[in-house]
Amino acid sequence: MRLALVHPQWGYYMRADPLGVQGDFTTAPEISQIFGELIGAWSADIADQLAASEIALVELGPGRGTLMADMLRATRQVEGFHASLEIRLVEISTRLQQKQRDSLRAYRNITWAESLLPLPEKPLLLVANEFFDALPIHQYRYTQDAWHEILISAGGKALSGLQFMLGESIPLPHPGKEGDVLEICPAGQEIMNQIAHHIARFGAAALIIDYGYKQGAGDSLQAVRNHRYHPVLKNPGAADITAHVDFGALERIARHTGATIHFTTQGDFLHALGARQRLEQLCTKAIQEQKGSLVLGVERLLLPAQMGDLFKVMAVTHPTIHPAGFRP
Ligand code: SAH
Repeated sequence: MRLALVHPQWGYYMRADPLGVQGDFTTAPEISQIFGELIGAWSADIADQLAASEIALVELGPGRGTLMADMLRATRQVEGFHASLEIRLVEISTRLQQKQRDSLRAYRNITWAESLLPLPEKPLLLVANEFFDALPIHQYRYTQDAWHEILISAGGKALSGLQFMLGESIPLPHPGKEGDVLEICPAGQEIMNQIAHHIARFGAAALIIDYGYKQGAGDSLQAVRNHRYHPVLKNPGAADITAHVDFGALERIARHTGATIHFTTQGDFLHALGARQRLEQLCTKAIQEQKGSLVLGVERLLLPAQMGDLFKVMAVTHPTIHPAGFRP
């Protein structure tokens, strides 16, 4: 999964821009500007609670830079906010880094990095939309009274010569019954550990938005190409491969550092932050043709049958911070 996504030459994210109608999949910031605007307001509110003169604003996997551009545009008028920010974009693909530079050329104080650490020694405001789902997972299947790792063999005749196979039995501290599939994402756990430790030490908050679950979802490994599901092992590097995010595991790691965890659905979060009011505001200024797409965009983000329930929002905060958008 890691090679298929981020191999320097053949990795999916290294080769092309996967986002948007022309690409393979679309994300919330590409669907509606309101997404980034509300997250910008959310961040400015946290900064206000912090009353710190310097803050590191970090985004993981910024794609085309649209979320950050909307966040910054929406908070231009917030006194002192932009001046307090040191902005860091964590992006492994140089191609997408270039896109992000284009989207954000109006702003200074932005640097790029390929990994989260080292972080500046200041309070951290971190956002990550559809980043954790792209981190490689291990899968295990429970069969014949034990867990076995699901491996990929390169000797098969099927597809690109790749096929799934079961490894030796391996002891795991999880109950299981015949046929269960368990997924573990060490890279995601490590990044969450780094974020939570930084927040415990320097303060502030992280906002993680993704499709995922709190308790086991079984086999969630999937590939998408051209807005359609694609066989996972076919043409590695040509399709996006993701897994649902285990928010339960991330939460347990963050709690160890003393952080407070807030959790809700994307629909409830955006609704609580005033998505509908912002939509009305934009509609009064928009011409007729724009109104339809503005409404459709927000509905796609909010409605339970669309992205509203599937996508979850988790905030990891210092206990002194009270993030907007979550029920107490
Ligand atoms: N957040 C954006 C893009 C999501 S796609 C949006 O919502 O539109 C996933 C993003 O994470 C891409 O920018 C991809 O290049 C980046 N990415 C994937 N794996 C990464 C890794 N291991 N390290 C840094 N960035 C990574």
